[in-house]
Amino acid sequence: MLKIMLDPGHGQYENQSPLDKSFYEGTNNYKFALVLKEALLAYEGVEVYLTKNSIGENPSLADRGKMAVTKGCDVFLSIHSNAATAAAYGVEGYYSVKTPGAYNLLAGLCNIVKDNLPASKVRRVVTKKNSSGTDYYGVLRNSVGVKYSMLIEQGFHTNAKELACIRLDEWHKVVAKGQAQVFADFFGLKVKSAAPKTLYRVQVGAFSVKANAEKLANELKSKGYSAIIKEG
Ligand SMILES: [Zn+2]
Repeated sequence: MLKIMLDPGHGQYENQSPLDKSFYEGTNNYKFALVLKEALLAYEGVEVYLTKNSIGENPSLADRGKMAVTKGCDVFLSIHSNAATAAAYGVEGYYSVKTPGAYNLLAGLCNIVKDNLPASKVRRVVTKKNSSGTDYYGVLRNSVGVKYSMLIEQGFHTNAKELACIRLDEWHKVVAKGQAQVFADFFGLKVKSAAPKTLYRVQVGAFSVKANAEKLANELKSKGYSAIIKEG
């Protein structure tokens, strides 16, 4: 079982866009996380958790990271959009100094975002350390023990072209589907099958005389089992 903790960054009304006061990074991160969860659950053998049970919750950075550890998660992914000047654009990924193996997975997730933004780029997929040499980001610093611990900045909500994309439900769906595919490729996941499950039948006897078969069938019926007689 692959256990994934998605962390929608910030509180509901944190990080308002200067370009449109109705956009809050915290709200958008949460909405995207729900869509990504659904996309991941299209695959077999996956459990997906969020660090928030509702959009109104706003756990501390330490608690967010620790939730992934407590749940025994293999993956921690903190979801954000970026802020800078109006000219800044692109995608950034940060993985924990403790989980260098996350690079390829995170690079794949960043590429999906870049491919769905106009003339965009992946700015960097790196680790970021503080002065004591551990992770700069609190969520990553507190997720020690998780095998793949990452934070992604999915475009800039301070850039008009990128904001126009990243806020759309349809964009969430397309990017989430692409990112779920990246997870599937990385971990070798299979799409859940809609085909009927195999049925296993119990046979209790085989007789050359039909009357003997009927006798056993009646005995089973009298005991509350459903029984059928088949030739063959
Ligand atoms: Zn953020």
